[in-house]
Amino acid sequence: MKNKKDLTINLAAPLQEDSILDGEGIRTVIWTQGCAHNCPFCHNPGTHSFDPAIVKTTEEIKKELDMLKGQAGITFSGGDPIYQLDAVLDIAKYAKEINLNIWLYTGFTYEEVLKMNNGKELLKTIDVLVDGLFKIDLRSLDLPYRGSSNQRIIDTKESIKKGKIILVDRLMHKKNTKPLYEKPSNIFV
Ligand code: SF4
Repeated sequence: MKNKKDLTINLAAPLQEDSILDGEGIRTVIWTQGCAHNCPFCHNPGTHSFDPAIVKTTEEIKKELDMLKGQAGITFSGGDPIYQLDAVLDIAKYAKEINLNIWLYTGFTYEEVLKMNNGKELLKTIDVLVDGLFKIDLRSLDLPYRGSSNQRIIDTKESIKKGKIILVDRLMHKKNTKPLYEKPSNIFV
């Protein structure tokens, strides 16, 4: 890994606080710039270019994390954060030091990330990986926190510990679309 002081990260947008869509709880999203997967009907085509967009040092991002209030954690999304793995790892390690929960979305699979340089270290540092390409034929609006059913919500720490994929089982099911209130059937009897 480069000297930490030299690490920069190319972002598609400023840090976005208070998201409830990008993982459990209220989270701050780090939108990385750059993705070469080219999934048809990608929801964020503006993030594909690898040209510099908002370039910051990882030290600057850490200072921004220090300022966060009321966030359960951070989520790396994009784009695909894995193209900037060393910078993401540096930020993720700091986020752990200040007790932030970490999710990461990638078009690569868990197995592919595991084989990359520093990939295992990253998987040990974050909490949840949502992996796999977005596939339009497997798209569903009923799946919490993922766009298509091939994608997996993986407990990375447990997976590394056990040497096999451990899914976050409670999040792999379809959303409960039952209405919060139903009129009792005997109300007018
Ligand atoms: S991995 Fe994500 S950002 Fe990249 S093309 Fe696929 S859906 Fe789009």
